[in-house]
Amino acid sequence: MTDVTMDKIVSLCRRRGFVFPSSEIYGGLGSTFDYGHYGVLMKNNIRSLWFRSMVQERDDMVALDSAVILNPSVWEASGHVAGFTDPLVDCRTCKLRFRADKLEDSQCGRRPSNRPGEFRECDLTEARQFNLMFETQVGALEDASSTAYLRPETAQGIFINFKNVAQLARRKPPFGIAQTGKSFRNEITPGNFLFRVREFEQMEMEYFVPPADAQRWYEYWIEQRLNWYLDLGVRRSMLRVREHSAEERSHYSSGTSDIEYDFPIGWQELEGVANRGDFDLTQHSQHSGTKLEWVEQDGTRYTPHVIEPAVSIERIFVAMLCDAYHEEVVAERDRTVLRLHPAVAPVKAAILPLIPRNDEMVARSRKLLDELRERWLVEYDDGGQIGRRYRRQDEIGTPWAFTIDEQTLEDETVTVRDRDSLAQERLPLSGVAAWLADALRRPWQSPAA
Ligand code: ATP
Repeated sequence: MTDVTMDKIVSLCRRRGFVFPSSEIYGGLGSTFDYGHYGVLMKNNIRSLWFRSMVQERDDMVALDSAVILNPSVWEASGHVAGFTDPLVDCRTCKLRFRADKLEDSQCGRRPSNRPGEFRECDLTEARQFNLMFETQVGALEDASSTAYLRPETAQGIFINFKNVAQLARRKPPFGIAQTGKSFRNEITPGNFLFRVREFEQMEMEYFVPPADAQRWYEYWIEQRLNWYLDLGVRRSMLRVREHSAEERSHYSSGTSDIEYDFPIGWQELEGVANRGDFDLTQHSQHSGTKLEWVEQDGTRYTPHVIEPAVSIERIFVAMLCDAYHEEVVAERDRTVLRLHPAVAPVKAAILPLIPRNDEMVARSRKLLDELRERWLVEYDDGGQIGRRYRRQDEIGTPWAFTIDEQTLEDETVTVRDRDSLAQERLPLSGVAAWLADALRRPWQSPAA
């Protein structure tokens, strides 16, 4: 089995243009990243697969896109101004800062002192609370009244729109509001590549239910979200659901479970599913003076309870890359392959003219390219030996490659090569689009499962 390390993932992402360290020509900005071509494509796929299962395939869901900077009162009401904090400790020995509740994950411990070969224990200060929200100023005047925050989660934008969706559009619980968008957290110790960054794209859904049904829907959403990963081919053995203990839960939560993935850094939260009760709608009703509740036709009213699955594209991106990364030796040559689900793979198929100097092969290949790119993201590759081109596509996870060769010119067939099995078969050129459509509909399982 391949030993998957974060370093290998980072290096492949950089080498193949998925992800770059941001502001690199200026020395970078710690734990901030820019996405290159294949990274953008893969992120778009993850987002649209989430949206598809959350919104497109359901009757009970609507979409929302709320602002990043909200009225600061939102964050007073939600409890973020007072309590969205992590405990911060400074080390007097190594002069670094750590999260007091994540010391075991950090490099804190015995570190070299200034004298070579000498080790001194870390000497930590008392923990103090550090608010993770980024502050900014709105407008030209800088005073207390202009202070605002970059949102640390997208959820509050959903709660404050409850009335618009539920009351004006007469959506009746149970129903959900889904949104994706950037969130910002001034993390004390970002790191592990994209796992913990200060700017990330969240995908959150708030599901509003009658209070008596909350537990049932909480369990339902844990199962739904776990199945989403399994359907996308993430290995079952690498996923687990961990229920938070009462002490670990946020004050508003009556149940929280993490869907965890066994990252190279160990089992960590991939996605959280929380039963938030009526905390948020009640808080916003009290602070805003606008009642956020559901009124039945007969006049009875209640504040719905909320179930929230919340995840970032970044964590899914890393988990899926780790799950897909594989090294092997084929015909005495090293092969690195991303065995991604075809729906997640940045490029669905490569079109390769065997002899790029042959005009007829090129003409046939470009015609096929034009046909396929109407429906899918496909790539034309004519650079170098065919074996090298296959390897290049393997490394970015392209599930199929269609090769146009001498035989194509004689009998109008092409070779299709499968990324996982390496099997090759011949197809009629005119049937390639239908073949690919069919292949993309087939369930896919990781060869490592
Ligand atoms: P952690 O305990 O790891 O800090 P959290 O419990 O604070 O996470 P939530 O507030 O529940 O995280 O956020 C919901 C989801 O958003 C997480 O499950 C994760 O997928 C994602 N997420 C949170 N913080 C970050 C971050 N700094 N970088 C990338 N993704 C993040």
